Amino acid sequence: MSPSSRSVLVTGGNRGIGLAIARSFAEAGDQVAITYRTGEPPAELADLGVLAVRCDITDSEQVERAFKEVEEKQGAVEVLVANAGMNRDQLLLRMSEEDFSSVLETNLTGTFRVTKRATKGMLRARKGRVVLLSSVVGLLGSAGQANYAASKAGLVGFARSLARELGSRNITCNVLAPGFVDTDMTQALSDEQRDRIVKQVPLGRYARTEEIASCVRFLASEEAAYITGAVIPVDGGLGMGH
Ligand code: NDP
Repeated sequence: MSPSSRSVLVTGGNRGIGLAIARSFAEAGDQVAITYRTGEPPAELADLGVLAVRCDITDSEQVERAFKEVEEKQGAVEVLVANAGMNRDQLLLRMSEEDFSSVLETNLTGTFRVTKRATKGMLRARKGRVVLLSSVVGLLGSAGQANYAASKAGLVGFARSLARELGSRNITCNVLAPGFVDTDMTQALSDEQRDRIVKQVPLGRYARTEEIASCVRFLASEEAAYITGAVIPVDGGLGMGH
């Protein structure tokens, strides 16, 4: 174990952005656990020594069980990356109450559950880092994504409240707002939609998952000790002005 090795937990770390984040912390020598909800975690994680625990963040009991397992195997969580999230896009008039509430339940309430549980140990240790994965659309809005945008905007108020509550205990809480990233979540878009998006991004391309991971690692680092309550865009310039 490296001297700076910390206990890191990444929710939804079995694929996409979460997998890149987990890989990045593990390669830097931290002790990393991920949660996954469905299927089996990729073999690559075991090779990197990453602990994988099954957990649906909409279920408080599963969250409690997952934290206990992580604490037993690698100690209390010192860095939480609340990354798990989902979308169920639909224009407002066609959006059912279930479409709305399921997205809020996962993205906002699920993040509340894991953050509340993680900060228990951080308060005891009088240190900790919390990074929440929001989205550029949380501030910019997005037609067909009222549920998703509301959940991601909610994370900003949540994080800023925690920054105020927990700052005196040396716990920082920041939000990362990615733009469009090449993952399963954006695979559902048509080529035409992708082209339209890319034209609006000053850097003219989607983000690579590694580009999100490097910013998360910075926010969790000693160098970022004086940053809290911030919303950091990693969006190729798409959302600038907010
Ligand atoms: P993916 O759809 O590729 O992966 C989502 C991850 O979240 C999966 O691991 C999934 O688990 C997990 N998850 C979903 N619902 C739950 C749940 N109820 N309980 C536990 N885990 C759950 O998404 P991305 O990697 O693209 O996105 C990661 C985060 O970044 C999300 O919060 C997303 O909103 C945000 N984001 C993504 C952007 C993008 O362009 N891709 C842009 C801006 C923000 P399982 O495999 O079991 O489904």
